[in-house]
Amino acid sequence: MGKADLHIHSLYSYDSTMTVEAIVKKAADVGLSVIAITDHDQIRGSLEACELAPRYGIEAVPAAEVTTQEGHLLALFIRELPPVGASLADTLFSIGRQGGIAILPHPFTSLPNSLRQESVFSVLANTRVKGVLRGIETHNMSTQARNQTAQKLSIYLPLARIASSDAHVIWAVGATWTKFPGSTAQDLRQALDSNLTVPVPYGQNFLPWGIVSWLRYFFLRKFGYAVDVQASRQIDTQRLSDEYLRSIREQVRSKKR
Ligand SMILES: [Zn+2]
Ligand SMILES: [Zn+2]
Repeated sequence: MGKADLHIHSLYSYDSTMTVEAIVKKAADVGLSVIAITDHDQIRGSLEACELAPRYGIEAVPAAEVTTQEGHLLALFIRELPPVGASLADTLFSIGRQGGIAILPHPFTSLPNSLRQESVFSVLANTRVKGVLRGIETHNMSTQARNQTAQKLSIYLPLARIASSDAHVIWAVGATWTKFPGSTAQDLRQALDSNLTVPVPYGQNFLPWGIVSWLRYFFLRKFGYAVDVQASRQIDTQRLSDEYLRSIREQVRSKKR
């Protein structure tokens, strides 16, 4: 059985606190077989993960968390970032056209970036994007207290059930995962297509200390510190180089959503 965490944010998301390499190493350390780095409207982190992952004995898939007009959407197995701010149907069309698939992240909550039932039912009936939407997060660790509607509705939806960390801090990477037959990214894709995934939820209450922990790291990021892999191959918080900080800032600029 493979273990996947398909919703993780790197420094290329304005609200995350860890480098791509820290995520890949942590994922390997906790026994994940496949990961997707899904930065806000940004594919770069996931592409870097695809390069790094084999060195750590795992696989990564190109991905992003795309802001659509109707809420957030996870795009997986993409080649380029779909247009940001388009309708859910047009975003799915763009993902499907490049051979990708989509997962509903934290759907049906009252959060502003959460997709609503009307939007999802409408695209499920839309033949133009048939089969592109493949999964639903029944367990999103970061919206743990708000997942009940997704869990109930998932029984009636033709979608694979997913548990994701939506990690913005290092300890959350792989704290919850999706089980699938096989171990490779291709096996995962097949499992998503055949609804053979099993969500393995986080066993504890994420709040409120999860938020306190994130605030601490987020504060450190403001001063140029992030969780990275040290030269000693240990994961630790360190000051990033000015050059690296500049390149991150450039990528994140205008993507703050
Ligand atoms: Zn989101
Ligand atoms: Zn997210």
